[in-house]
Amino acid sequence: MKKIGVLTSGGDSPGMNAAIRAVVRKAIFHGLEVYGIYNGYAGLITGNIKKLEIGSVGDIIHRGGTMLYTARCEEFKTLEGQVQGIEQLKKFGIEGLVVIGGDGSYRGAQKLTEHGYPTIGVPGTIDNDIPGTDFTIGFDTALNTVIDAIDKIRDTATSHERTYIIEVMGRDAGDLALWSGLADGAETIIIPEAQYDMGQIVERLERGHKRGKKHSIIIVAEGVGSGVEFAKQIEEATNLETRVTVLGHIQRGGRPTGSDRVLASRLGAKAVELLLEGKAGVTVGIQNNKLVYHDITEILKVPHSIDLEMYKLSQELSI
Ligand code: ADP
Repeated sequence: MKKIGVLTSGGDSPGMNAAIRAVVRKAIFHGLEVYGIYNGYAGLITGNIKKLEIGSVGDIIHRGGTMLYTARCEEFKTLEGQVQGIEQLKKFGIEGLVVIGGDGSYRGAQKLTEHGYPTIGVPGTIDNDIPGTDFTIGFDTALNTVIDAIDKIRDTATSHERTYIIEVMGRDAGDLALWSGLADGAETIIIPEAQYDMGQIVERLERGHKRGKKHSIIIVAEGVGSGVEFAKQIEEATNLETRVTVLGHIQRGGRPTGSDRVLASRLGAKAVELLLEGKAGVTVGIQNNKLVYHDITEILKVPHSIDLEMYKLSQELSI
């Protein structure tokens, strides 16, 4: 293998740049040429491809977003789109591809592999919803962004003796909600992976209020429903003044944390190593702080799971 390509796809996440940098530098270290495919699979289809040098990835390790840009591309879900993409790669002489993204991007990578094109997936998403890895690139940064926001909201919640509902991202996964809720001592965390009982939530709020709590923080994962709807229900049931904050896209940006930069550097470099070893159709991950890889088709069959012990703990600590 002499030439490889790298692209970022789907939702961006902080640390994607550090992963791109690692892919490029590791490849050049081993004497390979590296090509950046811009705008995800959309740029693959149209041939928006440029050679990257050591300097192309300078000064990006600390920046959020992705220097290769990203896009959602419906056309790539069709056989025609995939064939066009492979033709572009062949035109540039690119023999292997690293795809950094979430599970949608992995499905694109799986298709390329099925067509015989060596592709490696690197988990980049703030949602932490990719099986086969304990953490995805961007989760830690998003977690800290959410914590920072909740800390600020907590000040106002205390000053005004209000109940605050905070809706956090995560698509169908509750990881960001659970981790931020535990880290911030939220009274209640509502996630898609666990049943909740509105009666119990209300009871807990009223109990807290009676014992003189100045505020209550409730974290709602977007996968469960709208924070605004929860607020309405809670206000009707308790008469406590309730406010909602939907954190939205501030969760996706920002300087990656140290953990995300290190994770991205390790996973990006591992992807290149695997291509050099002749592996294809695999995804890299970190489990128990060891770099691992798994078959992409198998990984896409595994449902996302959450640590329910942690959920239980969050309930025990917020009595
Ligand atoms: P993420 O990678 O963050 O989960 P998406 O689900 O939007 O984001 O997927 C990103 C892109 O991956 C899609 O816009 C599409 O181009 C490609 N993709 C998703 N699903 C498939 C599929 N089944 N086959 C081929 N490509 C896919």
